[in-house]
Amino acid sequence: MAGRVALYDLTYSQLGELLADWGEPRFRVDQVWRWLYESLVGNFERMANLPKALRARLASEADLGLLTVLSERESATGQTRKVLFRLREGNTIESVLMHYQDRRTACISSQVGCGMGCLFCATGQGGLARNLSAGEIVAQVIHLAREIREAQIEAAEERGARAQMPEHPVTNIVLMGMGEPLANYAATWQAIETLTDGRGYKLGARLITLSTVGLVPGIRRLTEEELPINLAVSLHASDDELRNQLVPVNLRYPLADVMAAVHNYVQTTGRRVTIEYALIDGVNDTMEQAQGLADLLQDLLCHVNLIPLNPTPGSALQPSPRERVNAFRDLLQRRRIPATVRMRRGIGIEAGCGQLRQRQAGIGIP
Ligand code: SAH
Ligand code: SF4
Repeated sequence: MAGRVALYDLTYSQLGELLADWGEPRFRVDQVWRWLYESLVGNFERMANLPKALRARLASEADLGLLTVLSERESATGQTRKVLFRLREGNTIESVLMHYQDRRTACISSQVGCGMGCLFCATGQGGLARNLSAGEIVAQVIHLAREIREAQIEAAEERGARAQMPEHPVTNIVLMGMGEPLANYAATWQAIETLTDGRGYKLGARLITLSTVGLVPGIRRLTEEELPINLAVSLHASDDELRNQLVPVNLRYPLADVMAAVHNYVQTTGRRVTIEYALIDGVNDTMEQAQGLADLLQDLLCHVNLIPLNPTPGSALQPSPRERVNAFRDLLQRRRIPATVRMRRGIGIEAGCGQLRQRQAGIGIP
């Protein structure tokens, strides 16, 4: 509701200031923070160790509900789940949860739409509506985590057992949903700091991956950060002529500049970078492109993720056939560049990479 403080938008110290203004003792900050990020409760009533008066004040002046669920879809196997959220003003965003044997990965959005206009991406086709706030980024993870925890408790109760609470219902985060995270740097970074905060959700920074289209100033800024998150860079072409067409921001930050920033990142941090490459039938899947990519990545500590293009409405581009995908991978591997074909997830429910799309504002369930 307008005028209320959105608690998920606050840093730990901002929450401290708010509670200090309200005359609360210092230790309440940790208590509220733990309710938000450890217990994951969705309402103030359940914050049992807070005095009644404080709960009442929070309920009237603060807010936990930055996102409202509009709809959820699950893949046939139940391994992938897509959630459509409504923001306060009516725009919508999507997040995806992927269950693997040993981890649960949340793919989250950083913007409503995206202004980068990549040719093959459904998000890019609608343009940028606005940046998400830090709280709107964080709340996607909290929502998914809460759902997982509730399901775990329910399953344990059915077995008549006490639920074994895993510390992290969501074990990994990828910023690969809607939007370009480095075009919304401040909010994205605040969200990462909140989710890795040792007093709350405590996710290891190494379990977070930020994917960028290649915004050079953002990569340079990221290089200076202390939190060791992972970086993924979307290349999709190995020469400027082709990349200008597929990824228009290449006109501003051409490949040589992107690669220089990426080399600097790897040298400074010592961390391996992921290179993403969507294979598009007859467009960027030739052996010449593969050779060019191998040349570009020759001396770089990296791993290449090859993603057969996910088809999107409004584009005639098609995924490369399996043989060409394998040939592309084999060539990279012969050149001693680690490359794997990424398993396709969630395509049937339009939850694959690049398939997330902003619905028209205010319309509600599509
Ligand atoms: N804006 C960032 C992160 C979001 S997109 C970026 O571009 O990196 C996440 C990944 O999905 C990127 O690697 C992007 O290139 C890829 N992608 C976009 N559209 C796709 C599609 N139709 N098929 C497969 N991958 C796609
Ligand atoms: Fe934006 Fe990434 Fe889609 Fe390009 S691929 S339009 S940068 S979300």
